[in-house]
Amino acid sequence: MTLDQEMLQLLVCPECKGPLTLCPAQDGLRCDACQGVYPVREEIPVMLVEERVPDEQWQGSVAD
Ligand SMILES: [Zn+2]
Repeated sequence: MTLDQEMLQLLVCPECKGPLTLCPAQDGLRCDACQGVYPVREEIPVMLVEERVPDEQWQGSVAD
């Protein structure tokens, strides 16, 4: 099972309300504006500002 693309399009960053990009491994949702990633745990996006991981600390998938 993968995350529902239609659902993803409804998700926005809880801080800036900007669009999110799903990481290639589907383990996180990245906000460009906030330069951070919201983790996806057991296919449930954690849409909490407190849980956001800064880009440089993100240990999930890396582009490429
Ligand atoms: Zn944001």
